[in-house]
Amino acid sequence: MNEEIRQCKKCQRDFILEVDDFSFYKKMDVPVPNICPDCRFKMRAVWRNEHTLYNRTCGLCNRSIISMYNPKSPYIVYCNECWISDKWDPFSYAIDYDPSKPFFEQLKELMIKTPKSATYTSIAVGPNINSEYTNFAGGNRDCYLIFNSGPDNENCAYSRGLIKSSDVFDVYYGDEIENVYAGVDVHKSSRVVYGQNVSDCVDCFFVLNCSGCQNCFGCVNLRHKSYYFFNEPLKREEWLKRVSEISGSFKKTEEMRNKFAEFSMKFPNRSNNSLKVTNCEGDYIFESKNVKDSFEASFCEDIRHSFSVKRAKDCADMIGHCRNSELLYNGVGVGAGSRKVICSWWVESSQDIEYCYATRQSNDCIGCDAIKNGSFVVLNKKYSKEEYQKIKNNIIKELKEKSIYRDFLPGKLSPFSYNETIAQDNIKLKVKKPSNRKKFRII
Ligand SMILES: [Zn+2]
Ligand SMILES: [Zn+2]
Repeated sequence: MNEEIRQCKKCQRDFILEVDDFSFYKKMDVPVPNICPDCRFKMRAVWRNEHTLYNRTCGLCNRSIISMYNPKSPYIVYCNECWISDKWDPFSYAIDYDPSKPFFEQLKELMIKTPKSATYTSIAVGPNINSEYTNFAGGNRDCYLIFNSGPDNENCAYSRGLIKSSDVFDVYYGDEIENVYAGVDVHKSSRVVYGQNVSDCVDCFFVLNCSGCQNCFGCVNLRHKSYYFFNEPLKREEWLKRVSEISGSFKKTEEMRNKFAEFSMKFPNRSNNSLKVTNCEGDYIFESKNVKDSFEASFCEDIRHSFSVKRAKDCADMIGHCRNSELLYNGVGVGAGSRKVICSWWVESSQDIEYCYATRQSNDCIGCDAIKNGSFVVLNKKYSKEEYQKIKNNIIKELKEKSIYRDFLPGKLSPFSYNETIAQDNIKLKVKKPSNRKKFRII
């Protein structure tokens, strides 16, 4: 099989299918896509509302909750405790598969009536304690407005992409950090203020592309340096004196911020911010091998077209999570030891799953919502292995005939409006015609 150029059926632009892509699709037993990676990203992103939160009431215990589902949307929403409990039975919402009706119409009907979890909280990673205002997060304690984060964060706020961190405010993408304020891409560091692309640093202020530094102020591209001030070495006492004249003063800090912005422009930048990688293309990729067209990926191998993924092997088109999973394709928040999951949203600890929503500890499910411990399930109804296979083949046949098998769940089934999701953060939608506002359910 050679590299091939195809035209995207959505944006009409050409895109390249590489040799590795073909072998992956063969392994997953899915047809080769006729939609380009960017359009495929958008289709998944409209299913990921990370930070638009609402106040509403749990449909089961009636307490006041924070939820990612707009109270004006048609969904029944339970607090996370009620949703994971045995106080209700997702199988009781089962629909009999009707081969004469389109599969996605039946899935939509099921999704509208099956209760939703207030927020996405990774069940495999662990509960969030005293951290109600978080989403796409798990295993955090005393955190506020953190997203796509966890586990093991404590006392963190206003951040995205944190792992194993404490006392962190205003950080985008950080792991194993403490006492950090206002940073982007900060790793294994402590007491860093205004840092970007920083690793193994302690007591640093205004630092860019620095690693292994201590007591540095206003520095760029330094390695293993101490007591540097705007890239000049100083005696310890002199450094302490200058920093003490600035710290604590808002006015002087703002002056330094402007000075540093100007100063840092003089230095060459690295072409990307990836570290310890082999054969990787993209940015912010760490300790990974054979990663293509991906961003924010750590400890990954053989990954393509993915964003914010960790510990994944042999996966493509994923947003978020993964963690010890392999053979995932076209998913949002799928992971936690999962295998062979296609076109699904929030699936954990499961195998052989297709077109499912919020499904965990299950195997062989297609078109399910909120199922746990399910085997051979279609539209929340249990079948024998043989019946299941027959219905699944029927559904795949329908989707293949429509040339939509392996495309992500249709956008019109998404519980979220375009501008509630990360699609709006990454690919801004400018709606000119009022009729289009309705189409994208702009709020
Ligand atoms: Zn396209
Ligand atoms: Zn409740």
